[in-house]
Amino acid sequence: MKRKVIIVGAGIAGINAAIILAKAGIEVRLFEAKKNIGGRCFSFTDNSTGDVIDNGQHIFIGAYNNFFDLLRNLNTFDLLKPQSNFEINYIDKKGSDKLATNLSCGKLPLALALFNFRKLDFKSKISIVLLILKINNVRIDNEISCLDFLRQNLQTELAIKYFWEPLILATLNQSVEKSPASIFVQVIKIMFQNVQNAKIYFSSVPLSKLIEPAHYLLQKYNSEIITNTEITKLDVVNNIIANCYDKVGQEYNADAYILALSFDRLARVFSNSGISADFQTYFEFSPIISLYIWTKTKLDCSEINALVGTQSHWLFDLTKIYNSVSSGYSLYTVTISNAKELCRLPHSEISKTIIEELNYLGLIKKTEDIVHTKLIVDKKATVSIDIANSKKRLPIETAYANLFICGDWVNTLLPATLESAALSGKLAAERAISYFKST
Ligand SMILES: Cc1cc2nc3c(=O)[nH]c(=O)nc-3n(C[C@H](O)[C@H](O)[C@H](O)COP(=O)(O)OP(=O)(O)OC[C@H]3O[C@@H](n4cnc5c(N)ncnc54)[C@H](O)[C@@H]3O)c2cc1C
Repeated sequence: MKRKVIIVGAGIAGINAAIILAKAGIEVRLFEAKKNIGGRCFSFTDNSTGDVIDNGQHIFIGAYNNFFDLLRNLNTFDLLKPQSNFEINYIDKKGSDKLATNLSCGKLPLALALFNFRKLDFKSKISIVLLILKINNVRIDNEISCLDFLRQNLQTELAIKYFWEPLILATLNQSVEKSPASIFVQVIKIMFQNVQNAKIYFSSVPLSKLIEPAHYLLQKYNSEIITNTEITKLDVVNNIIANCYDKVGQEYNADAYILALSFDRLARVFSNSGISADFQTYFEFSPIISLYIWTKTKLDCSEINALVGTQSHWLFDLTKIYNSVSSGYSLYTVTISNAKELCRLPHSEISKTIIEELNYLGLIKKTEDIVHTKLIVDKKATVSIDIANSKKRLPIETAYANLFICGDWVNTLLPATLESAALSGKLAAERAISYFKST
């Protein structure tokens, strides 16, 4: 008889688990509370301009093997656009300079790029190169912060400010003071494992276009995605999950269950089901702020710009990244990671601060050039993984043999990213398949 799995949550983790199981001949029903799939990776139409924009700029690196495999399954991998040459433009009050190489990025090309980079002195450049060269031999036995790790490894304050801090904020959505060095070292090891891994990719289309074919693919494998259906409770019988219920009390059952939810939503379902949900106190969220800006004239910047000395962290030129912007205006987005303090301000204040900073950096000369802005404040963008709680990330297995969990925050040893979400979904699907083999 065909085995059945219920998956709850159609973010990247749930979709990846669903596709792997469906392709293995298992019948999957994937429930999603919202009307659209994709979770924290989605797009919508901006009413004022008619342009489709994302819930925040997402970038991918060549090491995202599991996320890329998901896109290959969905036949959308070719919609990603790799940077032809590694290039990050750094902008501070004194002007801009590119960390760039026309070779593919690896340890040696990065070293060459660093030596031409004018924002750093010679000592800082040497310190960065030496740390990258020895990174494979680094072991973190007792957890420390990234800042302590970088200082112990003789990184200058300039190297930390211009090179490491933007990288840590972008990958861990956490400050250098609080980020656990073990996860950061793991990221650097993976990035410099080979030339391909450090390559930066963008989506050339709005994110939802990458993900939506999941509907058709699952149908092809006799499975389905059921949207607008929030699963609120599980029934435990003889230490096994027997069935689950949606918000209006409709019952659904399967042979195994995967909850692909953010940790607070998982805690809620567990608590409704009488399952211990102590872990809801383990983590806080780390907010991300995105300001989309439409202008009449082009700003003098690259595809990807690290902003230094401001609260704004990154500026992306979407006119260069997307194939086209339908409104015909120039479109940019500013990203602020780990935005705990700023996100408490009124939205008008946040937008004003960002625009003032772009003005201070000489990027926006006249505010009359701005046609429209759209601010997105995601207070629950990712879990805040810090030194204190990094060991508390939950495993995929639960106390119930036919129940598995996944999501970017579970213990994948990766930062809470699309790759962590996709990997966790794959691991949950593999555990479900092993469970079926053993019963
Ligand atoms: C602004 C922003 C920028 C980011 N930038 C990057 C980046 O550049 N690179 C990168 O790798 N990552 C980035 N991320 C992180 C990335 O988006 C997430 O790591 C990833 O999308 C998480 O996927 P997930 O499947 O684990 O969880 P989610 O996307 O949260 O999926 C969970 C799903 O479950 C649904 N759900 C919840 N409760 C229920 C219920 N009871 N019943 C049914 N369904 C339910 C939710 O609606 C949601 O669709 C960014 C995130 C944000 C917000």
